Amino acid sequence: MTIDYEHFKGKLEKEKKLVEKELEKIGKRNPDNLSDWEASPNIKDTSQADENTLADSMEDYGENLAIVNTLEGRYQDIKSGLDKIKHGNYGICQVCKKEISAERLEANPAARTCRTHME
Ligand SMILES: [Zn+2]
Repeated sequence: MTIDYEHFKGKLEKEKKLVEKELEKIGKRNPDNLSDWEASPNIKDTSQADENTLADSMEDYGENLAIVNTLEGRYQDIKSGLDKIKHGNYGICQVCKKEISAERLEANPAARTCRTHME
């Protein structure tokens, strides 16, 4: 069975844009490393803020950080999927080196492993 690279490339690129858009909402790109993202502190004007507002901001920051980390992981998976397409080894499980089923790639085009070896 051959994998339709063009089809999955399109899917990955579409998803990459979506993840980037989400990341831009709550974080900012590290200018020194464009695939690294940081959570925005979410503090607009600290000079006017009282202690409660600051505490809320820190809470928001913690939440943003968790979301950024999740999205960033996703982003790296997508990028690695696109890399694999470029190098012609897309759709291969990184544990057993067998082909990942098209069905699984359809559901998650950034999958690194086959169904047996998914974390
Ligand atoms: Zn496997």
